[in-house]
Amino acid sequence: MSESNATSALIELQGITRIYRLGSEEVRALRGVDLKVRKGEWVGIVGQSGSGKSTLMNVIGCLDTPSSGEYRLNGRAVAHLSDDELADIRNREIGFVFQTFQLLPRETALANVELPLVYRGLKAKERREKAKLALEKVGLADRMYHRPNELSGGQRQRVAIARALAAEPSLLLADEPTGNLDSATGEEIIRLFEALHDAGHTIVLVTHEPRLAARCPRAVRLSDGRIIADGPGLEVAMQNLRDDPRLAAANAELSARAGG
Ligand code: ADP
Ligand code: MG
Repeated sequence: MSESNATSALIELQGITRIYRLGSEEVRALRGVDLKVRKGEWVGIVGQSGSGKSTLMNVIGCLDTPSSGEYRLNGRAVAHLSDDELADIRNREIGFVFQTFQLLPRETALANVELPLVYRGLKAKERREKAKLALEKVGLADRMYHRPNELSGGQRQRVAIARALAAEPSLLLADEPTGNLDSATGEEIIRLFEALHDAGHTIVLVTHEPRLAARCPRAVRLSDGRIIADGPGLEVAMQNLRDDPRLAAANAELSARAGG
C-alpha cells in the first residue's frame, strides 16, 4: 500500500449531529460523532436498536444530511450539498448493499448488476463487460442469466454485492448484509467481504450480529447517538457479549448453583 493510501481518509466525520423533529419533540439520534475511515479499511458499526446506526449510515451514504457538523467524503465536503448533488455523489462514490437484497425480480442477475451503470452513462457493451466482471468477482459467473427466484439467498446477496461493485465505487456500504441469511450462508457472505477487503475495497457495514462484527478488523459501537468504543472488531463484539444482561443473568444463575 502506498503511503498516501495508508494515510488518506475516505470518510471524515466531525461533530456530526442529527436531530429529528416530531412536532414539538426532538429526537437527538446522533449527538456529536467523530469518525475517520481510511481507504481500504473495513469498519463495522454496532449498537443496540435505536442507538443511531441507521441514521449514521444514511449520513455516510449521502442519503441524509446532518443537522450540524462536517463530513468529507473522498476529500469533498458533502454535509451541506443539495439533493441533486448528493445523488450524484452517491452514484459515483458509493455501492449500497441491503439486508433484503433489493433486486428487480423479473430481471436476470446480469441486468440487475448493469442497472447502476446505466446511470453512469456507459454504453451497452461496456456495461455488460463491467457487470460480468463484477459477477465473476463474487463467484457467480455461472449464474448470470438466472432471475432472483432461481437463486439461493446467499446467491441473491452476491448479486446485490456485484451490483454495488459494478460501478467501482470508492466505498461499499452495507446495512445488515447477513440479516436475512441463515448462519452457513451468512458465513459465505462474511468470507466474500473478507476477500473484497483483501482486494483493497473500503467497507463500512452495520450489523447487530456479533459473529460478523468480530470479523471486522475494526468496529465502532454506538450508544445513544455517540461512539462509545472503537477498536478491533473482536474486542468490540466481545464487549457487547460481556455487557449482555442475558449473559449476566446466566452467570448469576451458575454462581448461585455452584454456591448452593
Ligand atoms: P438504529 O438503526 O441503531 O436502530 P436509528 O438511527 O434508526 O437507530 O434511530 C436512532 C434514534 O432516532 C431512535 O430513537 C429513533 O427512534 C429515532 N429516529 C430514527 N429515524 C427517525 C425519523 N425519521 N424520525 C424521528 N425519529 C427517528
Ligand atoms: Mg437501524
